[in-house]
Amino acid sequence: MDFELDLSEFCCLNEDCPDHGKKGKGNIRIKERYGPKNRVLLRCNTCTRCFSETRGTIFFGLNTPDEEILRTLAMIPEKGSIRGTARATGYDKDTICRWLDLAGAHCKEVTDYYFQELEFGQVQIDEIWSYIKKRKKT
Ligand SMILES: [Zn+2]
Repeated sequence: MDFELDLSEFCCLNEDCPDHGKKGKGNIRIKERYGPKNRVLLRCNTCTRCFSETRGTIFFGLNTPDEEILRTLAMIPEKGSIRGTARATGYDKDTICRWLDLAGAHCKEVTDYYFQELEFGQVQIDEIWSYIKKRKKT
């Protein structure tokens, strides 16, 4: 482990969890590190939910890290369809549709994440949004 994360600063974000919002209970553990920025995936031992160290996580409650989800969505323009992306990534088509819907509900966070964390360009982000918006209409 290359740096220590103060786990007492984190609390469970699952509203249904008995330890929701309580810091320093010892229920938060590091599950794994992921991505180029070595983000930490945390796990609450009380309710077994996982979430990213970044607060206000976009896809909170899903067991897939935000970055993995957003990278998957970013492949849709390249693959040309949700079906093609599902084939390429191994994720279920319905799962990807659900992620698109969730992304559509968090416009600003999603755009910021692409810019800041994944360092995508505007054109690339616009392409992804065109798919998200298409979903919203149907
Ligand atoms: Zn919990």
